[in-house]
Amino acid sequence: MQKGKARYYRRPPQLLKRNESALNSTPASPEAAPRLARIIPRDGHSISRSRISPDALRVLYRLREAGFQAYLVGGCVRDLMLGLEPKDFDVATDALPEQVKRLFRNCRLVGRRFRLAHVFFGRDVIEVATFRASGAPLPAEEPVPTRDELDEAEAGESIDAEFGEADPADEPVEPPADSRDVHDFDESLERVVDESGRILRDNIYGSIDDDVWRRDFTCNALYYNIADFSVWDYCGGFEDVAARRLRLIGDPETRYREDPVRMLRAARFEAKLGFSIEPATAEPMARLSELLAGVPAARLFDETLKLFLTGHGARSYAVLKQRGLLEVLLPNLAAFVRRYPGSAPERMLVRGLENTDARVMADKPVTPAFLFALLIYGPVGVEIEKAPRARWNEIGTILDAVDQALRVIQPRVAVHRRFVLGLRDMFALQPRLEAPRGRRALRTLEHPRFRAGFDLLQLRAEFGMADAAIVRWWEQLQSANPQQRAALSEASAGAPAVGGAGGESAGRRRGRRRGRGGRGRGGGGGS
Ligand code: ATP
Ligand code: MG
Repeated sequence: MQKGKARYYRRPPQLLKRNESALNSTPASPEAAPRLARIIPRDGHSISRSRISPDALRVLYRLREAGFQAYLVGGCVRDLMLGLEPKDFDVATDALPEQVKRLFRNCRLVGRRFRLAHVFFGRDVIEVATFRASGAPLPAEEPVPTRDELDEAEAGESIDAEFGEADPADEPVEPPADSRDVHDFDESLERVVDESGRILRDNIYGSIDDDVWRRDFTCNALYYNIADFSVWDYCGGFEDVAARRLRLIGDPETRYREDPVRMLRAARFEAKLGFSIEPATAEPMARLSELLAGVPAARLFDETLKLFLTGHGARSYAVLKQRGLLEVLLPNLAAFVRRYPGSAPERMLVRGLENTDARVMADKPVTPAFLFALLIYGPVGVEIEKAPRARWNEIGTILDAVDQALRVIQPRVAVHRRFVLGLRDMFALQPRLEAPRGRRALRTLEHPRFRAGFDLLQLRAEFGMADAAIVRWWEQLQSANPQQRAALSEASAGAPAVGGAGGESAGRRRGRRRGRGGRGRGGGGGS
C-alpha cells in the first residue's frame, strides 16, 4: 500500500454542488457538524478500478452522471486496500432513495424508515444507501427477518443463494418481491422542507460527514470517490488498515451498547482479516458480551453464518472462544469445550470448520445444516449419555438429544427450520450408516441427506468416533456399479466388519460411546 499524500479539506467544494439532495440539511446534532476529512488522492492509495465489480462501477458512474455524489464505502474499500476480493460492493450517495430508483430500472427499495436501494444485476445486487443522518436508525434497528419470515421462501432463498444448499429446485431466479417497499412512516416528522421543496432538515438522510460517524470500525468507514478516485478518511481508517488494526469509532462501550452485534463483527474481522483488535476496542467485549443475548435470534443466525461459512470459520471459532463470545452465542458448545477441552468432538469440529473453509475457498457449496451438526455434536453426545446405555444407538434417543441441544441454542441463534430438518436427518442416518444391513444399505444410499450424513461419518471416523472400515465399505459401495452394489449389500447382511449381527459389535459400541461425548471425558482420548 502506498503512503498517501493527503489533502485536507473542510467540506470540499464539490460537496456543496447539489442543492436538491439531502446534503444541504442542517446538522441535526453536534456529531453531524462538518469535520475534517483527509483525502487521499488516486496516486496515494492502491485501489484500482480494475478490481471493482463492473456492476458497482456502472452504478457509481450513473449516479455521478446524474449529478450526485457516489462513493464505494465499507468493507469493499477496506478489502480493496488489502488486496482482497470484496464480498460485496456497497455504494453511498447523496441521492435520495426515490432518486436512485428513478435512475435504475432494475432497482427495488427496501426498508421502511431508512430505505436502501437494491440495484440488481442478475443474481448480484449492489446496495445503494443515501448518506445517513444522526437521526437515522442504527443498522440494528433495521428490519431483520423474524423467525417466521425466515421460514418463508424469501429468507430461505437468500440464505441458500449465499450458502448454497445444493437443491436446484430452490434456486431463486428473480430477486424476491419486497413487501417492505412501502413508505408508511410519517415523513413530515423526519424532514423539514421549504415552500419550494428544498430540504432544510432531514433526520434520516444526511451528508457524508453525518454518515461516517454511524459506521462501526475505522477500517469500515473509508469512502472511495468515483469523481476523482480519491479515498476519504474522517477517522484514521486509512492508517488503521495499513497497520491492520481494528478500532471502533467513538467510545467503544457506548458503541457496543448501541449495537452488541458489533462485538461479533469485531471477532469476525479479527478472524477474517487477521487484524489485531486495538486494546480499548477489545477491553469491553468480555464484560459486555451478555448484551448479545438481547439481540434478535434471527440476526444472530445471520451473523453466525457469516462467522463460520465465509472461509474463516476455524479462526472465527478460536476468536469467539478467546473473546468469551462463544458462551453467549452457543452456550452448550461453550460449556462442552470448557468441560472437555481438546476432546475428539472439539477437534472434529475444528477439522470440519477447516474443511468448510477449504470448500468456500474452492467455491464449493456449503450448508448451514452441516455447520450446525458440527456445532452441536459435542452437546448432543452429552444428551445421549443421559439415556440408559442400551438406548444410545436408538434413533429416538439420538433425535431427542439433537432436539434438546437445539432447544438450548435456538433462543440465541434461530436456526432455520429447513436446516434443522437437514441436521436431524444427518444424525438419524449415523446408526444406519454404522450398521449397513443388506438391501437397506442401498436405500440409505438414495437418502437425500446421504452425502451429508456420510461426510459426518467420515469425520467421526477420522477422530476415532466411528469405524474406519465402515467408511471404506461405503466408499466402495458408492463407486461400485449396480451389480457390485447388490453383491456388496448382500454380503453386508452378515459381515462383522460392516455391521455384524445386530450391528452391535463391542468395538463399534465403544466407538459410538466415545463419539457422542463420552470421548471428551477421556480427556481428549481416542485417535
Ligand atoms: P463484509 O462485507 O466483508 O462482511 P463489511 O464491513 O462490508 O464486511 P457489511 O455487513 O457488508 O460489512 O456492512 C457494510 C458497512 O456498513 C460496514 O463496513 C460498516 O461501515 C457498516 N455497518 C454494518 N453493520 C454495522 C453496525 N452494526 N454498526 C455500524 N456500522 C455498520
Ligand atoms: Mg460488505
